[in-house]
Amino acid sequence: MTDGDLGAQVQAWVDANWDRSLTVREWWLRLADAGYAYPTWPVGLGGSGAPRRDAMTVAAVLARNEVIGPPVGAMAATLAAPTLLEHATEEQRMELVRPIATGEAAWCQLFSEPGSGSDLASVGTRAVRDGDEWVVSGQKVWNSSADSADFGMLLARTDVDVPKHAGLTYFVIDMQQPGIEVRPLRQMNGAANFCEVFLTEARVRGGHVIGDVNGGWRVAQSTLFHERNSVAGGGLPGLVMARSGSRGDLDRTVSEVLDRAREVAKARKSPIRAGAVPVKLMIELAQKSGVSGDPVIRQELARYVSQVRVNGWTMRRSGAAGGKLTGADGSIAKLTTARICQESRDLSYRIVGARGMLAGRVSPLEGDLQTVNLASPGNRLGGGTDEIQLNLLGERALGLPREPSTDKDVPYRDLRVGTQAAGPA
Ligand SMILES: Cc1cc2nc3c(=O)[nH]c(=O)nc-3n(C[C@H](O)[C@H](O)[C@H](O)COP(=O)(O)OP(=O)(O)OC[C@H]3O[C@@H](n4cnc5c(N)ncnc54)[C@H](O)[C@@H]3O)c2cc1C
Repeated sequence: MTDGDLGAQVQAWVDANWDRSLTVREWWLRLADAGYAYPTWPVGLGGSGAPRRDAMTVAAVLARNEVIGPPVGAMAATLAAPTLLEHATEEQRMELVRPIATGEAAWCQLFSEPGSGSDLASVGTRAVRDGDEWVVSGQKVWNSSADSADFGMLLARTDVDVPKHAGLTYFVIDMQQPGIEVRPLRQMNGAANFCEVFLTEARVRGGHVIGDVNGGWRVAQSTLFHERNSVAGGGLPGLVMARSGSRGDLDRTVSEVLDRAREVAKARKSPIRAGAVPVKLMIELAQKSGVSGDPVIRQELARYVSQVRVNGWTMRRSGAAGGKLTGADGSIAKLTTARICQESRDLSYRIVGARGMLAGRVSPLEGDLQTVNLASPGNRLGGGTDEIQLNLLGERALGLPREPSTDKDVPYRDLRVGTQAAGPA
């Protein structure tokens, strides 16, 4: 089928199915059953096994019609689903992937711990078998959207007598249970996008181990791969987003969600959301601040525009190659995007001068500039720090030797890493 034929087919489907009196739940069900929620996913799970190119055509038609976009579910569609499609059993896929496509489940990622971030294999949260179930105790941190998640992708230690990479298991844990306490963390820009999560004898249901017991490192690598690559994605303008999961918008009508989105858009005076200031806005900011004739600012602006453009082209090339351009496409995307965010912060502060010290609605771009700039260091950390991306790039794209490791063959219990670093109490 040509792109044109597919586009016409999707348009006819939208004309027949988009109805503003539907609930979000009903709309997402229709989208999933038609295979248009995530076209590359298998039939029955929200897709039709279509190639990536077809998925882009479907998304473009949906965006053109300004309908509610497919459910994202925080980390559900970008990280959990692709990991499950690669590593879960048929039964687990039916149970866990379909609710992502129909918006019934939102997910978070429970990997990092207070003593384990870059050295993720050192996580110390313990999971102990109890019949068919597992009992989990420990602490996770920096877990985005954990306060609205139904499920968590949990990496926990199941064997301390083997080296650190070999004693980890990948679980799916129900977030809404008595053994889990989620505390949102307030950031310096006032938002609370991520949480710390305390697990005290929390339970993992039988059948919710993904991959092999003690084979969790391999599964976690998939999630991390998709996390790096998800930076290169980005939504299509036009699609309206609704919240998935039991705490989301499922039982609201699509018109309620559209009205809400319109109100939010009307209340906002500036088009920046997160990440970096768009090129056009940065130039306008320089003009309005009376510095667009300053030779140094002009030079910086030209550099910024070039970086953003080149990055956009690189992302598109990488997207077209299915993330297989260099062997480390996700790391390149993450690194360059993080760098642009830092450039954006520095250049915009230079442009607005002392006004950059202000916060709130009296400050530049109604306070949005400060909110985004204060969050910019996070782009260098989340999904693996810049230094870790450089290591991956060196090893996987350039073929450089691996970073030396002295603990590869030492049983976890003998290591002083992660939360064990402080030694026995
Ligand atoms: C916005 C945001 C969202 C996040 N969301 C999640 C989430 O949803 N779920 C989750 O589990 N985690 C999440 N994280 C946590 C994130 O994955 C970790 O912050 C990250 O992996 C770094 O770990 P760390 O903070 O412990 O720093 P550390 O690992 O302690 O690193 C400290 C410094 O040392 C450097 N360093 C460490 N090891 C090396 C090395 N081998 N070579 C060179 N330099 C090195 C690092 O680059 C860094 O500069 C999020 C973080 C942020 C900022």
